[in-house]
Amino acid sequence: MSETALRLTGKTRVLAVFGCPVEHSLSPAMHNAAIRALGLDLVYVPFRVEPDRLRDAVAGIRAMGFLGVNLTIPLKEQAVSLVDGLSPGAARVGSVNTLWWKDGSLMGESTDGPGFISSLEEAGGLPTTALVLGAGGSGRAICFALADRGVRIILANRTPERARRLAEEFGDVNVRVIPMDAEALREACREADLVVNCTSVGMSPNIGVSPLPPDALKADQTVYDLVYNPPETRLLADARAAGARPIDGVRMLVHQGAYSFRLWTGVDPPLDVMEAAVMEGLKKEA
Ligand code: NAP
Repeated sequence: MSETALRLTGKTRVLAVFGCPVEHSLSPAMHNAAIRALGLDLVYVPFRVEPDRLRDAVAGIRAMGFLGVNLTIPLKEQAVSLVDGLSPGAARVGSVNTLWWKDGSLMGESTDGPGFISSLEEAGGLPTTALVLGAGGSGRAICFALADRGVRIILANRTPERARRLAEEFGDVNVRVIPMDAEALREACREADLVVNCTSVGMSPNIGVSPLPPDALKADQTVYDLVYNPPETRLLADARAAGARPIDGVRMLVHQGAYSFRLWTGVDPPLDVMEAAVMEGLKKEA
C-alpha cells in the first residue's frame, strides 16, 4: 500500500461515513488508501451519528459542502427520506449507503447490489440460478440486483415470513422461498450455480460456523460469502474443499466502495490498493 500522506490544503474536500457505531468501519482506511494512491485533495472521515441526529447531519453535508457520504448501520433506511432524489435501485431496495451530488441535488444510491454484480462479473460472470441465504438488508439488495439481471432466485431465511414478504415484492419474477433446513438447502444447492450467504452466520466473533451443510456444495459452483470478518469463513473453506469457486466479502466491500468512489470523484479507484487497506485493517482488529 502507498505510504504517501494525504494532500490536505485549503481546497481539501471531505468525504465521510456516518454510522452508529462507526468506530470499526473499514471504509476510512479503504477510501483514504485510494485517495493517497491517486494523489487527490480529499479526506475521508468517520462520524458517529445517532439516528435521531441524522437529519441534522444531512443538513451539515449540505451546509459544509461535503463531496459525499457513506451511511452504515442503522442509518441506511432512514436516509431515504432525507435526500433530494434516489436512484431506481435505491428506491426499490429502500435504503441508501451512498450520498452524492448530481447537478446540485443530494442523491441517494445503494451500491451493495451494483458492487456485488461487478465482483461477480470480475470472477467470471452471472449465474442462471442463485441460492440466496438471508433476507435482511444485504439479502434484499442482492435479490434485487440478481433479479434485475434475470437470475432465478431460491431464497431461504431463518425467519421464513421475512423471506416470503421479500419474495412477494418481486411479483411475477422467479423468486422461490424454501425452508432453511439442511435437506431443503441440499436440494437447492444441486440446482444453483451460485450460493450467496447474506446472513451474519460465520461473522466474528462467532466464527467457524456455516449456514450450509458442507456436503451440500459442489465443484461447479461459485460460493460467495458477504461476511468479510474473517475473510476466510467456514463456508468458504467448505467451498474450497468441495472444489467450488469461493469469493469473499472483502471483494464485495471493495467493489461497493469503488462504486461510491466513482460517483463522488468520477475516477476509477485502484481496487487492489483498497483491498490491501481492508486486509490490513482486519489484521489489526484480529
Ligand atoms: P441484517 O439486515 O441484520 O440481516 C441479518 C440476516 O442474517 C437476516 O437474514 C437474519 O435472519 C440472518 N441471521 C442472523 N443470525 C442468524 C442465525 N444465527 N442463523 C441464520 N440466520 C441468521 O444484516 P445485513 O446488513 O444483511 O448483513 C448480513 C451480513 O452481510 C453481515 O455479516 C454483514 O457484515 C455482511 N455484509 C457485507 C457486505 C460487504 O460489502 N461484504 C455488505 C453488506 C453486508 P432473520 O431474518 O431470521 O433474523
